[in-house]
Amino acid sequence: REDIMINKRMTGLGTHRSAIRDLFEYGLCRKREIGEDRVFDFSLGNPSVPAPDEVNRELVRLITEVEPTSLHGYTSAAGDASVRTAVAEYITKTHGFPVTAGDIYMTVGAAAALTCTLHALVCPGEEVIVLTPYFPEYRVFIEGTGASVVEVDCDPVSFHPVAEKIAAAITEKTAAIIVNSPNNPSGAVYSREDIIALSAALTAAEQRYAHPIYLISDEPYRELVYDGAEVPFIPDYYADTVVCYSFSKSLSIPGERIGYVLVSPRVTDNSTVYASVAGAGRSLGYVCAPALLQKVLPACLGLTSDVSVYDRNRRLLYEALTSYGFTVVKPDGAFYMFVKAPVPSAAEFCEAAKRHELLIVPSDSFGVSGYVRISYCVGTQMIENSLPAFRALAEEYGILPK
Ligand code: PLP
Repeated sequence: REDIMINKRMTGLGTHRSAIRDLFEYGLCRKREIGEDRVFDFSLGNPSVPAPDEVNRELVRLITEVEPTSLHGYTSAAGDASVRTAVAEYITKTHGFPVTAGDIYMTVGAAAALTCTLHALVCPGEEVIVLTPYFPEYRVFIEGTGASVVEVDCDPVSFHPVAEKIAAAITEKTAAIIVNSPNNPSGAVYSREDIIALSAALTAAEQRYAHPIYLISDEPYRELVYDGAEVPFIPDYYADTVVCYSFSKSLSIPGERIGYVLVSPRVTDNSTVYASVAGAGRSLGYVCAPALLQKVLPACLGLTSDVSVYDRNRRLLYEALTSYGFTVVKPDGAFYMFVKAPVPSAAEFCEAAKRHELLIVPSDSFGVSGYVRISYCVGTQMIENSLPAFRALAEEYGILPK
């Protein structure tokens, strides 16, 4: 209805599901129709490997040993002081970069870390750069601040950032850039050289426009890397960095909603930026991050679920798809594979894949056309069972080598 006084932008967001969620819902229906094991659902990034035992053990210990009103009560808005100290000590030790509890703000996963950071740093009318391909929710989060999204393409083969293109896109209105490595959806892990070049471009632009340009590093996949790939710690290279971290994927607990913002102590006017992140959290109504999950963290920092399962899936799928004639960006991290559609329209290709019961996501909502994303955080058996369908799809498009 046009006449009711509600926020139409919110109605739009609430009624139009993302392409990924749409496909996932379709998969649920289809599984009911033809059976669970006959649908190959590669749509969502829901970790398939269980959380490390320590997570459940610590949950049980907390529930049995800690006095309930204190355990389940509100924590400080920024997070429990001892949890923030443990996180700060872990970062200091792991990256050799000194931070304190006062630089950490606990959040409801990376999504809340991003919305708090964006609301803190960005004003209506300003611009935020995102590198294509990118996590589609960035657009929702950025536009929620009243700022606009500026898309800058990564290298079309490697999907690594191109500093010159980023430099050319920066204007007087640029408030921030979001960087996500390991990347969803390409699986690219940005190298030290990438980060050095990006930092140089941003530093030059900060000097040109005489205001900070914040680098927001979205890092839910930091620990999910393969073949020894290294993920540079960006605050080492660029002063105005705010890290948005999440335990969703590293500990396989996405539904539990826990992460944090690290405002680098080197950020220009760090205490004001930190206060603004806290203010944004308040304004968005977060109150505090889930208390029980915060308290699990000190016993679990540095642990990950079994990443070797994703690596096995990655190799299996990469080898099979390339042998069927598909062009694949070999992922160095995260648990997504970005595959070139053999026709210009990724949507058309995904519809054809659906007829083989393969649920894969067209790249258009990631800001790139002509690719599909395959989430390989699924059971290895499902990947094995799906290979004849991928082969048949390659045959249908005439790309299967003779
Ligand atoms: N950023 C990226 C790139 C993601 O892929 C996701 C989730 O898939 C998120 C942020 C949100 O993560 P969280 O579950 O921690 O809110």
